[in-house]
Amino acid sequence: MIPDMKFVATTCPYCGVGCGLLLAVRDERVVGVEPWQAHPINEGKLCQKGRYAHQFIHSEDRLKTPLIKRGGSFVPASWDEALQLIARRLSSYGPEEVFFLASAKATNEENYLFQKFARVVMKTNNVDHCARLCHSSTVSALAKAFGSGAMTNSILDLEEARCIFVIGSNTFEQHPLIGRRLVLARRRGAKVISADPRLTPTAKEADLHLPIRPGTDVALINGLVRRIIEGGWEDRGFIEERTRGFETLRETVMKEESTLPGTSRITGVPEGDIEAAAEMIATLKPAALLYSMGVTQHTSGVENVLALANLMMLTGNIGRPGSGVNPLRGQNNVQGACDMGALPNVFSGYQSVEEDGCRRRMKRVWGVEELGEARAGITSTEMMEILADRPGRMKALYLMGENPMISEADQNRVRRALDNVEFMVSQEIFMTETTELADVVLPAASFAEKDGTFTNTDRRVQRLRKAIDPPGEAMPDWEILSRLARAMGYGKEFDYRRAEEIFEEIARATPSYAGISYPRIEDPHALQWPCPGPHHPGTPILHVERFATPDGLGHFSPVEWRPPAEVPSEDYPLILTTGRSLWHWHAGSMTRRSESLDGEVETGWVEMNEEEAEEMGIRDGEVVRVSSRRGKIELPARVTSEIKRGVIFVPFHFAECPANRLTNAALDPVSKIPEFKACAARVDKLRGWQHPRGG
Ligand code: SF4
Repeated sequence: MIPDMKFVATTCPYCGVGCGLLLAVRDERVVGVEPWQAHPINEGKLCQKGRYAHQFIHSEDRLKTPLIKRGGSFVPASWDEALQLIARRLSSYGPEEVFFLASAKATNEENYLFQKFARVVMKTNNVDHCARLCHSSTVSALAKAFGSGAMTNSILDLEEARCIFVIGSNTFEQHPLIGRRLVLARRRGAKVISADPRLTPTAKEADLHLPIRPGTDVALINGLVRRIIEGGWEDRGFIEERTRGFETLRETVMKEESTLPGTSRITGVPEGDIEAAAEMIATLKPAALLYSMGVTQHTSGVENVLALANLMMLTGNIGRPGSGVNPLRGQNNVQGACDMGALPNVFSGYQSVEEDGCRRRMKRVWGVEELGEARAGITSTEMMEILADRPGRMKALYLMGENPMISEADQNRVRRALDNVEFMVSQEIFMTETTELADVVLPAASFAEKDGTFTNTDRRVQRLRKAIDPPGEAMPDWEILSRLARAMGYGKEFDYRRAEEIFEEIARATPSYAGISYPRIEDPHALQWPCPGPHHPGTPILHVERFATPDGLGHFSPVEWRPPAEVPSEDYPLILTTGRSLWHWHAGSMTRRSESLDGEVETGWVEMNEEEAEEMGIRDGEVVRVSSRRGKIELPARVTSEIKRGVIFVPFHFAECPANRLTNAALDPVSKIPEFKACAARVDKLRGWQHPRGG
């Protein structure tokens, strides 16, 4: 043991896996990270991001004092001055004129308080967060199919699967400690299938790679469903006892486009591989499904997830260990931010803002007589649309830890939208491309500087523990919100001294969290919701005996394939798809300040097929221009055989070559998620560019 060193057990701030780690603290500085051996999910392992999670905490450019923009420049201000200004300005707007953008990086307590502030103080349901951009299609689709929009199974029981179907997820790079479970399952004999347009590290590890064309997921899944029915491999008992709507599903997949040749023509996957995948998924039981944003971020995102729910019900793979429909959540607390009601249509625990019973319950818990209208607010993507295209309708924007300038689709339009905001507040730990546009910036605490909870992708509610004080005058987001509410006349409703007091209120307000408390989640195994009472053990697997739908049955939803909003054309002959790098996270504000992570991958790139690159005379490493109908960026080419012809890939973390300048903001009609994963694009050589290696 190093003298004067203490270790604080907490939760990784990056992805939704929710690994446990120990922050090594000496002299009020976090000097390192150790994996938490006793933690059930990561069992003493961490990926690169977790390993270096401390490196951004003490960055020189942390925000340390409130800033107010005067004459176009930010000047430091006192907390009183900043909060009084915000209180005065927010009070001048009506409920329809304000929008609150919460954060999947912030704690449950902070997201709960954020939506409470919007609903109690500002009387608006205009609150949302970045789940809109990643898994809103999951929430809509699984609520319809199963009555609950969360991951059905646990990370731990993946090892019991005999087949794991991974679609639209590069699990090894995006959720590495779930990737480890795939390896362990394979060692126990499981077969892994990966459907992805790229030969990712996950696809390389798989027994079968289905090189699917972006935007053809429904066609592939309907093809698998048809082949399973033709083979007589469906689970008749499960279908009859636990589901309804099978006959309409069967009729839908009897069309020509779901035959093996039809499916192959649309998806680009060889017929034999479709047949092999169908047989493996249906006959190797239990089979688990893992998917992520390659499935959800489409104008057909809800239909894609409905099709996957069909597939897993058809094969009886719900409600038992090693099976299930498992959406892998991106950010550390995106599940929690949804659970806490940082959404326009629900309070915490998915209680509808339109139902009288839910409204009465919230008024009682919050001790208020009035809430805003009993009508869902607008989504964050609709908010951007209104700001960009109908200036003057929406006036104020309040952000907590979000950077839409990098994370939203069609960046030029986002810039136009944010320029149209009359008054903008941002709580952040660093200046970002978005805070630069704000009127007031409030310095927030990082994950190491506050207490709270995060809920990971398998619904596990875990503790975040304070290791050090925040720098300068920065404070936790929950404390900022409490102070602001008090400045706006809501003293008793927002009177909290510790994060734990907020959590106790969450348990009172939220049936699925009712039995969870800080003492009960001291143990690293924590608790998985639903946990309805103080002695309930939590729920590792959902829908074991009945689904959460009103009739208790799983609902098949016949869906038909339709192409993405934008398809390749003469001018834009390629399909651009986007994603993450192993070494970076989201908009990069934390990982790009980590010398170890940023040193490994310093900027973005475009991955392109080697045959197409050769036809265009483009060499590996050459800087090229990538354009779409919305803009252009310049970045180095990575020429590889590991991506399908006709497809290019750009990671979206890098402000100097932002993929989201190119992506399409067309929305799924139900979930309002943009189509990040498929738009028409082109690659051009730059005239006069000299390769450093010559030639
Ligand atoms: Fe953190 Fe996710 Fe890596 Fe685990 S897998 S260490 S939660 S980034």
